[in-house]
Amino acid sequence: MQGWAQTMKASGFQGACDRAYGALFEKVLLPAWERGIRRRDTLGLLSHLEQSQWLDPESRERADVASLVQLLSHAGRHVPYYRELFRRLRFDPRAVKSRKDLTELPLLTRDIVRERYDDLIDPSYRGLNIKKGTSGSTGKPLKFEYSPNSECWRQAVKLRGYRWAGFRPGRKTFFYWAAVAAGLPTLKVRLDRALRRETFFDSMKQDEAARRAALAILRRTRPEIIVCYTQACAQFARWVTDNGYRDWPDTPVICAAEAVLPADRAMLTQAFGPQIFETYGSRETMLIAAECEQHEGMHLSDENLLVELVQGQRPVGPGETGDVVVTDLHNFGMPMIRYVNGDMATFGADGVCGCGRGLRRLLRVEGRRAAIMRDGHGNVVPGIVFHVLFSDARREIVKQFQAVQRRDGAVVLKVVRGRDFAEDAFSSVAGRFSEYLRGLPFTVEFHDSIGPHQGSGKHQTIVVERADEPVHQHARAVGE
Ligand SMILES: [Zn+2]
Repeated sequence: MQGWAQTMKASGFQGACDRAYGALFEKVLLPAWERGIRRRDTLGLLSHLEQSQWLDPESRERADVASLVQLLSHAGRHVPYYRELFRRLRFDPRAVKSRKDLTELPLLTRDIVRERYDDLIDPSYRGLNIKKGTSGSTGKPLKFEYSPNSECWRQAVKLRGYRWAGFRPGRKTFFYWAAVAAGLPTLKVRLDRALRRETFFDSMKQDEAARRAALAILRRTRPEIIVCYTQACAQFARWVTDNGYRDWPDTPVICAAEAVLPADRAMLTQAFGPQIFETYGSRETMLIAAECEQHEGMHLSDENLLVELVQGQRPVGPGETGDVVVTDLHNFGMPMIRYVNGDMATFGADGVCGCGRGLRRLLRVEGRRAAIMRDGHGNVVPGIVFHVLFSDARREIVKQFQAVQRRDGAVVLKVVRGRDFAEDAFSSVAGRFSEYLRGLPFTVEFHDSIGPHQGSGKHQTIVVERADEPVHQHARAVGE
């Protein structure tokens, strides 16, 4: 009993230290870093967003439309693709009075972005923009760029969304993340993570040794919050529960990269408690929506992204599912207006959420699930690792890919070569798959194009032919 009391006292002291450090980091170190070194006002924007989230829906739309008109006016004046488009359609940005007026413009597809890349960039931002790439959910990697100011918005929006789950910079956070590079990160990265008290672990590795290593970190660091890849963490959570390893209090979990299905939520709740927060983002635009403490859908980052859902050209309302169309309101360096990002989602009910925030809501996002493979020893390999490794490439090494696990376990990676394809660059990415697919034959096939996989109606990027109990049920639930 005495030992127990001492432990409680010690952990109470530890908790007080944790809170004091968190406050110091958030109020002193972080502002010094952001304003003094990065020379950006992410925190100023964050405090603006903390206020603006409470605007009622009408004021919300007025503010968003004002941002939209600024973006459209800028694009029409400075960006060749839009200058030409607006002239052809006789489209006047100043006539835009509501979100609906945007439907006069055509959708921006990935193919258009690839083909008209140079014309989509404001020439005065050339060389200043931040360049990134994504594999998206379609297996067709895409390059894009955005202005430094947009980066500031992205960071602020993410911080606000994560705050709803209790995340604070400087609070002990366990990132159960993806494809964390082998070997030690640079000193700068290590220092940054130590100051922020963030621990990273590669969740794509799900063999017994890796799971034990992750468990040891959880027990040693006692994180105040976990940020994870959904399916990998749900699999890990099931292992924790099945083996009775949980010896920690309820810890909030922020799920990223993949949709959270009821079965995932159930597994995560058993292992970490009921505060499970789904988020929806993409590499092109970062955090699109995040769940609040009411757990009734995800609030959109309305101030930064204007999200529409469409079926063909028709906008859909609450309760209906449509293709996600995003307009990035603060990326003046490469305006992406009505960009079709390849996902499908359903709007939640109109009106103010129980939490009081006026930001619109998504009920759910469909199809953001990669099938789960098994390595040669039967361990789980989240298929999303293929997406992660291909998004790392700054160059367009592959134009399209599809990974298929045959019934005998062998994995075939089908690839359409991209514009910047080079044997050595491709081999270094492909080589990393062997880290994850241990004990399996792995071959690469080059194709001119990749169609839908046999037997599946729609295009799947990760295909597992082997019938595989609970995992397979997930895949079906999404497909339906
Ligand atoms: Zn809410």
